[in-house]
Amino acid sequence: MAGGFAQYLSLAVCQVAAYTVARMAVCSRHGLSAVKNLSISMSRKVSGPEIEHVVKLLARLPGLGPRSARKAALALLKKRNELLLPLSQALATAVEKIVDCPVCGNLDTLSPCSLCQDPRRDQSLIVVVEEIGDLWALERASVIKGLYHVLGGHLSPLDGIGPDKLNIAGLIERAGSGEVKEVLLALNATVEGQSTAHYVTEQLEPTGVVVSRLAQGVPVGGELDYLDEGTLAAAIKSRRRV
Ligand SMILES: [Zn+2]
Repeated sequence: MAGGFAQYLSLAVCQVAAYTVARMAVCSRHGLSAVKNLSISMSRKVSGPEIEHVVKLLARLPGLGPRSARKAALALLKKRNELLLPLSQALATAVEKIVDCPVCGNLDTLSPCSLCQDPRRDQSLIVVVEEIGDLWALERASVIKGLYHVLGGHLSPLDGIGPDKLNIAGLIERAGSGEVKEVLLALNATVEGQSTAHYVTEQLEPTGVVVSRLAQGVPVGGELDYLDEGTLAAAIKSRRRV
């Protein structure tokens, strides 16, 4: 049933796209081209180079393939005043004003960023994350009162990503400033994330700060029957008294 519905949905989107392209042609050409365009398949180019350029740029975004990019472009083009124009203005402002924080690696319009400048934050705690998206996720949860440090990825020798490609030197420098007491490694629970955590822990050893990691185990609201063996083993290993 799900496959059938998905197929129907996909067909419907294709029909809407083809119809919209045809309508755009009617507006510009006022003629039989509308009928002609209705028969154009989705695999062939259905729009001018400007629109194709928008589609190609959108397709570079994570999570968007060519088909999704075309759908997104179509949605933007159909709502030019309500969506496309405000988005283009917001992007232009972002290009002009947003900078990398030289301290933690976050993105902001301030330099250092608003998190680094916040005096209410615990200056003795640095939370290390792989990507800015991880920082934003922790901030959404409002669970961190300290400062952050974005590594910019994880170690991956097969991809040519060594320690020099990550912002590890900056972390060691901050940790050795004397004000920092603890570094919490909030890295992904993947092989790469954990090997990065191991390397960073070794590098931090001379600074004398306490190095901690996130707990691993049963997620909030999780049912044991649905957990994999690795997660269950981590939960047992990290058990604590109640
Ligand atoms: Zn910052």
